[in-house]
Amino acid sequence: MSAIILDGKAVAKTMQAELDAAVAEFRARTGVTPTIAVVRAGEDPASVWYANAIQKTMAARGMVAQLHVLPETATQEELVALVTRLNAQPDVHGIMIQEPMPKGIDEAAVKAALSPSKDVDGVHEVNAGRLAMAAPVGRPAGVGPFFVPATPAGGMELMRRYGVEFNGKHAVVVGRSNIVGKPMALLLMRENATVTVCHSRTANLPDICRQADILCAAVGRAEMIRGDWIQPGAVVVDFGVNDVGGKMVGDVAYAEAVEVAGMITPVPGGTGPMTNIMLCLNLLEAAKRQTG
Ligand code: NDP
Repeated sequence: MSAIILDGKAVAKTMQAELDAAVAEFRARTGVTPTIAVVRAGEDPASVWYANAIQKTMAARGMVAQLHVLPETATQEELVALVTRLNAQPDVHGIMIQEPMPKGIDEAAVKAALSPSKDVDGVHEVNAGRLAMAAPVGRPAGVGPFFVPATPAGGMELMRRYGVEFNGKHAVVVGRSNIVGKPMALLLMRENATVTVCHSRTANLPDICRQADILCAAVGRAEMIRGDWIQPGAVVVDFGVNDVGGKMVGDVAYAEAVEVAGMITPVPGGTGPMTNIMLCLNLLEAAKRQTG
């Protein structure tokens, strides 16, 4: 049996129309154009590509992305000074700091300089901490407003739109980075899933994956998760982006997995397009919060 495809491209398109209406309404009501500043030091090719993609995406949605690029030789103080200046600029509602930063720069220190209210990428410790402390959905959150990193937020929204049930399910997240694995685990836990987080030191990884009703892969290793690691009927969300001879493949061996899973994200066209749209939504939310 072949799985239902969690079509991120199609869902993102539907969400674009919803977002466009919300942005138009916001701009008409306030006269403010939601604006993100993308900060980078150096010319890492993937960062250059992503910054340009963000600029195009934002422009298509009626929003603005400004690029602020320092040379590879930029110091930590210069990066922090730029972020501090952008924090104070009322016409900038969101700030994204691109990684990798040049050698010798303490990435955590630069991220800590962000204003949490402009941290639309959800990398500041206040936003990460509030996500960690927030109550399960449906109960009073108990913390202030926060931003969730766009990639895991997109994975959750994609599953929601296909009616995936989280309550009481066993979710296994492979990967524990601050930007994908860890927030994904927290989001699933907030939705009342029972969550297991795996990483490079996990013993018996295939056995644990086989117990998953919802299996999320955020590893960065091409096709590491095989079809026989998947429980028949499971929901499989693949965040992996790996270049294999010029072809983009996920962390899940898709051709095998699609025969076993109940639902699965393709790569490309699954979680990727959802990331872009969630970043746009975070930016609009930031602009709303700052504009009142
Ligand atoms: P990181 O490299 O920061 O984290 C990878 C995680 O995988 C770590 O927790 C690591 O464990 C774990 N890991 C590595 N090897 C193994 C292994 N053999 N078995 C089990 N776990 C392992 O990556 P990111 O979280 O930033 O990204 C993960 C993937 O998602 C990448 O392919 C990236 O390109 C992609 N990505 C996709 C996005 C999208 O929009 N779809 C956006 C962002 C990222 P440990 O902690 O022990 O080192």
